[in-house]
Amino acid sequence: MSTVWLPEPTVRRRDPAPRRPPFHLLAKPAGAICNLDCTYCFFLSKELLYEGSRFRMADELLQEYIRQLIEAHGPAPEVTVAWQGGEPTLMGLDFFRRSLEYERRYARPGQRIVNTVQTNGTLIDAEWARFFRDNGFLVGLSIDGPRAMHDAYRVDKGGKPTFDRVMRGLARLRDEGVEWNALTTLHDANAGHGRDVYAFLRDECGAAHIQFIPIVERTTAQDLPAADAGWGARSKDRPLYLQEGDQVTRRSVTGEQYGRFLIDVFEDWVRRDVGTVYVQMFDVALANWYGAPPSLCVHSETCGRALALEHNGDVYSCDHFVEPRHLLGNIGQRHLLELVDSPEQQEFGRHKRDGLPRYCRECGVRFACHGGCPKDRFDVTPDGEPGLNHLCPGFKEFFHHVDLPMRTMAALLRENLPPALIMRQYAAADDRRPHNAPCPCGGGRKWARCHGRPPHPTRAG
Ligand code: SF4
Ligand code: SF4
Repeated sequence: MSTVWLPEPTVRRRDPAPRRPPFHLLAKPAGAICNLDCTYCFFLSKELLYEGSRFRMADELLQEYIRQLIEAHGPAPEVTVAWQGGEPTLMGLDFFRRSLEYERRYARPGQRIVNTVQTNGTLIDAEWARFFRDNGFLVGLSIDGPRAMHDAYRVDKGGKPTFDRVMRGLARLRDEGVEWNALTTLHDANAGHGRDVYAFLRDECGAAHIQFIPIVERTTAQDLPAADAGWGARSKDRPLYLQEGDQVTRRSVTGEQYGRFLIDVFEDWVRRDVGTVYVQMFDVALANWYGAPPSLCVHSETCGRALALEHNGDVYSCDHFVEPRHLLGNIGQRHLLELVDSPEQQEFGRHKRDGLPRYCRECGVRFACHGGCPKDRFDVTPDGEPGLNHLCPGFKEFFHHVDLPMRTMAALLRENLPPALIMRQYAAADDRRPHNAPCPCGGGRKWARCHGRPPHPTRAG
């Protein structure tokens, strides 16, 4: 259920006018199959969509997929091939070697093909790491923070913790100099520890690119007990995860927790890491304040340009909507481009904007938020209109909190100055701040006991 933080897609229409908006596709060569059994991973239940399948992308389909993907990009200078799961490394190295062969075969002269892979990291050894390095893969590694927070839900099929295996995989990636991002999901076990999670990722893992994904496991009142037990194979009566219902599991974050987490991290980041550590949500916010298109669909006005490809060639509207009513077709029968540009898919993408309740349309931070992802819009607004995002209180709190620093950094950018200069302003203000003054994070504690003190990531683990 994780998503690689992809580089900006660069798809261009063959004839330059009118331009087709860029798209990218997350391919799942092993479907929902994974060697782990993370309790919150609703994608594990998607196995139920393909009962009886071997869950391995066949070689002919791999070739067809690469051919169509590259063709769909026309003369674009760069094409991203994004691998995801389940756990894509279960396919073995030969699968990826063949993919590279097909990429070389179908790429246009001078066209660059970039591969990304999202992995739980537990199967990465020196051979995998060298392969990723030698072939320029960008690796997204799922890690939820220090040991106790990570192991709360990221467990194997026997329910055993995985922290040590992930850290071993990370060590191999770092030994070989592989480019990697941390992908950290936020849930009830780590959401209250923003500073410690961030310090752990930055200082102990050496992460320079970090993506935080709030866990919102949506379900119906009827399915809630089974959903609470988890979506993996250890849970006997797991239902198929569908974007339905207005209940959430006990693991899910609340809007308030999400907002507080982001603010806690931001208050550390803005004091020491601007320009050296990239936190996706902060980049996305800055893009919206600056007036550039954000690189994340969740906080864009419309969406529908991030699709998912299953192991058998089925294409779905989005990785979060791999369910029968959002199946667009199969690339064995219809060209990928036809599916990407289909009227159903365009309607899917427009609905993100057109389905906003009035409360969002009139919101002061709508330009930065855009109502969040439609999958999480199952709450009602204060005036009773359905369709409000479950995370709205957190979005509001975070976007209001960062308004001034975002305006400052956007102004620096407009003057061709580095946004990192903002750290000097923070340092000067902190120098004047009395120890017992309220912390500017707004969490209610004194400065010296909150963001004025160093975090303790290992103690928190
Ligand atoms: S449904 Fe959500 S995750 Fe999917 S493309 Fe739209 S905003 Fe992105
Ligand atoms: S902060 Fe809340 S009200 Fe404002 S746009 Fe986002 S979801 Fe809508």
